[in-house]
Amino acid sequence: MHILLVEDEAKVARFIKKGLAAEGYEVDIAADGKIGEQKARSGDFDLILLDVLLPKKDGFEVLHALRSDGVRTPILMLTARSAAEDIVQGLDHGAEDYLTKPFAFNELLARIRSILRREGRSPTIHRLADLQLNTLTRKATRSGTVIDLTAREFSLLEYLMRNPRMLVTRQQLSKEVWGFNFDPGTNVIDVYINHLRKKIDQGSEKKLIHTERGKGYYISEKDLAKGSTK
Ligand code: CA
Repeated sequence: MHILLVEDEAKVARFIKKGLAAEGYEVDIAADGKIGEQKARSGDFDLILLDVLLPKKDGFEVLHALRSDGVRTPILMLTARSAAEDIVQGLDHGAEDYLTKPFAFNELLARIRSILRREGRSPTIHRLADLQLNTLTRKATRSGTVIDLTAREFSLLEYLMRNPRMLVTRQQLSKEVWGFNFDPGTNVIDVYINHLRKKIDQGSEKKLIHTERGKGYYISEKDLAKGSTK
């Protein structure tokens, strides 16, 4: 999640950046309206936090310029002025929401999450035991440790995790993960499963990726073949 923060007060900017970074957001700061607008146009941001009172170009001008040029990145206006007029103006010009300064940091976080959710930019997190998969950042972690996966390994793991505790066949995997409409007839899938297993399970007491011989694979906290309910 990449956020552009357009804020001229260095102290406030640092405070917000630090807080957002702690929540896992990556934050770029622009200290005036002109730079903010340039960055907003060139950068790939999920959200823009835009102060209203800014040097060179105020927040409304930036908002207006971006929206008239079709930049659709969601914008949350930060305004020190609580005048209703400001707020209406901001929302009229295509801001998603506004927040009046001073604000509680938790309030800012809640607004950001709500906008990202509405925009469909919020990640889907799959969890199984201590394994976690974030489909937006395409990061996998086990017990909090990042696991370095290739794009294909990630897709394979994602498919398994979308179908937890269910046997998936090689044919299914070759269709869903590789896009083949036929059985590739090679051991390509087994090779990938082995790589994935090494990365996910090696060094962990609990094995998550299981093989049902001659049938396929599944991901589970338990070895289902043993029929154990423990
Ligand atoms: Ca300001």
